[in-house]
Amino acid sequence: MSEPRLRADAVVVGSGAGGAPAAAALAEAGLEVVLLEAGARWETRDFDGEEARMLARLMKATTASGSGMELYAGACVGGSTVVNDALCWAPPPEVLARWRAEHGLVGLTESTLAPHVERVWAEIGAAPTGPANLSRNARLLEAGARRLGWAGAAMARNVRGCVNLGLCNLGCPSGAKQSALLTWVPRAERAGARVLAHARALRVAIEAGRARGVEVLRLDPASGEPAGPLRVEAPLVVLAAGILETPALLLRSGIAAGEGLQLHSSVSVTARFAEPVYGFFGPTMAYAVTEFSDVHGRHGPGFMLENVSVAAPVTANALPRFGADLERAMGALPHLARTVVVLRDEARGRVTLARDGSARIAYAPTPGDLGRIGDAIGRLARLYLAAGAEEVWLPLEASAPIRSEAELAALAPRALGPRDLTLLYAVHLFGGAAMGGDPAHSVCDEAGAVRGVAGLYVSDASSLPGNTGVNPQVTIMANALRIAERARTGERARAA
Ligand SMILES: Cc1cc2nc3c(=O)[nH]c(=O)nc-3n(C[C@H](O)[C@H](O)[C@H](O)COP(=O)(O)OP(=O)(O)OC[C@H]3O[C@@H](n4cnc5c(N)ncnc54)[C@H](O)[C@@H]3O)c2cc1C
Repeated sequence: MSEPRLRADAVVVGSGAGGAPAAAALAEAGLEVVLLEAGARWETRDFDGEEARMLARLMKATTASGSGMELYAGACVGGSTVVNDALCWAPPPEVLARWRAEHGLVGLTESTLAPHVERVWAEIGAAPTGPANLSRNARLLEAGARRLGWAGAAMARNVRGCVNLGLCNLGCPSGAKQSALLTWVPRAERAGARVLAHARALRVAIEAGRARGVEVLRLDPASGEPAGPLRVEAPLVVLAAGILETPALLLRSGIAAGEGLQLHSSVSVTARFAEPVYGFFGPTMAYAVTEFSDVHGRHGPGFMLENVSVAAPVTANALPRFGADLERAMGALPHLARTVVVLRDEARGRVTLARDGSARIAYAPTPGDLGRIGDAIGRLARLYLAAGAEEVWLPLEASAPIRSEAELAALAPRALGPRDLTLLYAVHLFGGAAMGGDPAHSVCDEAGAVRGVAGLYVSDASSLPGNTGVNPQVTIMANALRIAERARTGERARAA
């Protein structure tokens, strides 16, 4: 018996920040669209705030070889937007300029992206965070920055009617966060797109240099076990399975990809205050110290400091303590504040295929990156001491708490390795199938079209040639809309 087949004008693989807007744009332009998603479809009513269950359902983690870094991504309809912190930044002009200069993306300018950014901003309800949504956790970061004279600001967030539950990473049980699940996916469906959850794309079907569709493995919704093949036939294929999968999909389809992966490396610094902070309430992230950033007009070493939730499991994971020591530290949970370093890495990594065809990530921050992480955590310790912290816990294995400027100054300078850091991780992942002007050094051209295969495009974070220096969802969504438009017009022109 032959495998079941579906026919469409376009098939989009992955329903996150890069896939869902592309599917919506193509469907609204009148194309018959199938949107494939390997994960399950959960709705707001399913988000009950129970950490272990929600994280298992919504997220996946991958460990990078070379550093042991943990990389996290969403794994459900809506992708990482369902588990992200809702922070919104416009694409930094400096980054676009660098992509033009270093990667030949001459058409990717502020003005070409502007209409798409505007559309994204409106669709996902991005707006400045007002005082009612600035938690004490965020305010302590702000207070320390003010005392030291460092620049910072409340960030924009894509929420409508946020009630400060502090559960942004668990899907948002109030439905306030305007993830792709609540915005682009329903928009695509209203325009006729068909969303298939539990549908894992295996490879692109390519014949005579042209994409013909996608070979899919359907998964059993209850067990996640293989439930049979499916072939979706379409003359236009858009890949947006995230950097943990899009490069692997290309490789499995016989297309060279996977080089140039880049991250924002992150670690967090935790501080204990005499007064309660209750840092598990309020938006998981809301305030950023921008003083040390190197984008949006700043000229620092290239990191942002953003307050982050002190939800119990993630905080316990990020503390450099064990056993009774960890128990004591966690006993002070209501008094803890926490901030994450978001580093614009200079390192590059790669995605390759394991023997079974799954993706393998190799990535290690450079000594320069690790030096800047050391700088960032030292500055955060100063900030928290300035804000009145009794103790600051640096994310350095086996380190003692810092109680004063003198103790901080006495820390012996040392070259850090990735394994000296407690929970070095990344949630902002870029590249592996990047656009570029030079065919020898880029998988896709400036329109997101995969070189050498007609009708095949990449619209997610894999298509970006490097990191953005800011939380990237708006850049990814705007770029996806741009690529969907270029794909639609490009393919129409080809057909004419
Ligand atoms: C915990 C966390 C917090 C974050 N916070 C922020 C924030 O506050 N602000 C911000 O700007 N950014 C944030 N980000 C980053 C942002 O959400 C991502 O950069 C963005 O969503 C990436 O878009 P993408 O389309 O590349 O991948 P994703 O959004 O991850 O979407 C990829 C989708 O493809 C699916 N998929 C994978 N393989 C296959 C396959 N073979 N077949 C079919 N489907 C497949 C996945 O299940 C997933 O749903 C955060 C990310 C995380 C994980």
